[in-house]
Amino acid sequence: MDLGLTDRVAIVAASSRGLGKACATALARNGATVVINARDCDELQAAEAEIREETGAEVTYLRADLTDADQILHLADETLRRFGRIDVLVTNNGGPPAGYFDEFDDAQWQAAHELTLMSAVRLIRSVLPAMRVQQWGRIVNITSVSVKQPLDNLLLSNVYRAGVVALAKTLSAQVAADGITINNVAPGYTRTDRVIELSEARAQREGRSLEDVLAGITNEYPMGRMGEPEELAALVAFLASEQASYLTGTTIQVDGGYVRGLL
Ligand code: NAD
Repeated sequence: MDLGLTDRVAIVAASSRGLGKACATALARNGATVVINARDCDELQAAEAEIREETGAEVTYLRADLTDADQILHLADETLRRFGRIDVLVTNNGGPPAGYFDEFDDAQWQAAHELTLMSAVRLIRSVLPAMRVQQWGRIVNITSVSVKQPLDNLLLSNVYRAGVVALAKTLSAQVAADGITINNVAPGYTRTDRVIELSEARAQREGRSLEDVLAGITNEYPMGRMGEPEELAALVAFLASEQASYLTGTTIQVDGGYVRGLL
């Protein structure tokens, strides 16, 4: 299937590794010019070279801390200055800390609000003017299965990712007439370096093997395994494509059947 992404310009936020990097690679593989972003220039440089070599696409990195409003504006402005358009935005960021209600004070709630909700608000706000001029745009937010089935120890993530879904649903109706779609993808446990690092730390803490910790996670998944980043990225590339022109305001989980709800 031709995704119609050739020469489209995409910004993928938080994409020096993990899910963001897989999405950037999938878009590049389908012919898009891709701007990757994170805070660490060394990691970005390595990811840029790797994606370019693998896909042959034009890939550029722009450093920006997604908790800083001015740096987000710069990311969009600089993309527009260099490439003249912004067709696709994938919002993503590091996750807020795990924990339960009694563990968080106001400062931690505020920080998670900035990290998870406001970074998506600001990223979307920074690209909408260009997309409106083009009368074409695709926005895909990377959230989590927690927006469909809250996870016990991820209170901050549950709350602010639900906010991103509400934002996307509300805004999708208001920009639809401009040819702009907004959708959310909701990954279940997906094998990124971060997930493996966290699992290794937990295994060490609890005196268990890594295999045992991973099995504890995947037991809850009907497919009996974690997802691979490329499996999420394939959906993101489709939602970013010409082919997904009548899909907006949706939230689709990529979770091997983990979410038990009907919708
Ligand atoms: P990761 O740690 O592998 O990658 C996170 C990326 O975000 C990195 O490129 C990092 O440099 C960048 N980043 C972090 N903070 C940033 C900031 N302030 N400004 C700019 N860039 C920043 O994580 P991942 O596993 O790819 O997960 C990505 C997101 O998806 C996280 O929010 C995570 O909570 C969420 N998520 C992950 C999974 C999973 O199983 N991997 C499942 C559901 C949701």
